[in-house]
Amino acid sequence: MNSKYEVIIGLEVHVQLKTRTKLFCACPAEFGGQPNTNICPICSGLPGVLPTMNQHAVDLAIKAGLALNCQISEKSSFARKHYFYPDLPKGYQITQYKEPLAINGFVEIDGLKISIRRIHLEEDSGKSIHSPTESLIDFNRCGVPLIEIVTEPEIRSPDQAVKYLQTLRQIMRYLDVSDCEMEKAHFRCEPNISLRPIGQKQFGVRTELKNLNSLNSVHQALEFEINRQSKILDTGGVIVQETLFWDEQNRVAGTMRGKEESEDYRYFPEPDLPVLVLNRENIDNIKNTLPLLPWQRKKILKEKYNLSENIVNIILETKEFADYFVETIKLCDDAKLVANWLVTEVKAVLNDKSISINEFNIIPKELANLLNLLRAQKITGTVAKEIFTDMVLTNKTATEIVNEKGLFLSNDDSLLIKSIDEVLTENADIVAKYKSGKTSVISFLIGAVLQKTHGKLTPQKIKDKILEKL
Ligand SMILES: [Zn+2]
Repeated sequence: MNSKYEVIIGLEVHVQLKTRTKLFCACPAEFGGQPNTNICPICSGLPGVLPTMNQHAVDLAIKAGLALNCQISEKSSFARKHYFYPDLPKGYQITQYKEPLAINGFVEIDGLKISIRRIHLEEDSGKSIHSPTESLIDFNRCGVPLIEIVTEPEIRSPDQAVKYLQTLRQIMRYLDVSDCEMEKAHFRCEPNISLRPIGQKQFGVRTELKNLNSLNSVHQALEFEINRQSKILDTGGVIVQETLFWDEQNRVAGTMRGKEESEDYRYFPEPDLPVLVLNRENIDNIKNTLPLLPWQRKKILKEKYNLSENIVNIILETKEFADYFVETIKLCDDAKLVANWLVTEVKAVLNDKSISINEFNIIPKELANLLNLLRAQKITGTVAKEIFTDMVLTNKTATEIVNEKGLFLSNDDSLLIKSIDEVLTENADIVAKYKSGKTSVISFLIGAVLQKTHGKLTPQKIKDKILEKL
């Protein structure tokens, strides 16, 4: 990227709200289903039907607005945004235009505040499915509730854009406002981007990118567009204001349509919906039920438990994982030990099986039991890991496995002495090496005793006894 220019990025993100039904009718809002089965006269745009507001969608939008530090408008209104497209049967989309539900918020990323200009409620369109020979339309998604979250053009790099999106998605998931699965189009991002010579105040001409299906695509498409625009500016060319379509496969952006201004949409107030009036009490109720957000939890984990930034970030990745941690430390009073086990052993199983913590078969209570055995020095660390693997495979509890296999640490000195005597006799050559001054070989002897006693003795105890014997 050419360092002569400053990169200016603004992001519009569509988040699908987690409601059971659509925004203006009682059809199911769920993803999937046979095409054109979750529809009715209202969402398929038949003439003369009336939309009715889904209160749950309004509440979720308020929740999102509050968590993003916005002012919630006690009065907001709906408008019709007109455009012709086969997957928009009414010929217009009901959205909020002049009076959005929430304004003037911010999201903090790495100590930097990214301003949120507005959040508004709107309905989704249907979906077109194109093949080389035909185009199909599925109206199931028509009328599914969305919020659009618009930032000020304050983002300065593709990395920052991705970080903002990750943070936003994490907050939406903590709130349970949306599942935010990009592959199901619950979370869609449309960046606009322009360059300006460093030092210049006036913004350059911007382009908009569409069809970004993953955070990876967002990053790649932004890099592509920064390069394209800086090459044009370098040769004295002019950037054309347009909407670009990201071609995932070939990693290039192509023109989708030309300059678009709001006048093109012929917005006018939606005559079938009253002004949306929110009562203060309801807003305050929602405020009081907001869960602890990732940044609030981060502060607690770092200050109260003295955990490292890296470990805290992994624990907070999802609310469910963070909750699992909290449940476990209620029963095992060693936050560092629990945190280490979660980010290594537990995480490895989740990754290996491609499952979430909700699908993990060991409940917090059972993990706490296992770790408590370790803390009480009833088992060794190596044995704890073996038991953990068994628990994952067999669904048995730690106590059951320990009892069945006789894995408790032994206080039986005769076992210790007998095993050491055997190992020393079997490894006379190693013993000779040790005696000639090569003291590092002792770890081999400890290992041999550990193996013989199947983890029933701690390495330290074995080492002390071997040193005594030698
Ligand atoms: Zn419907």
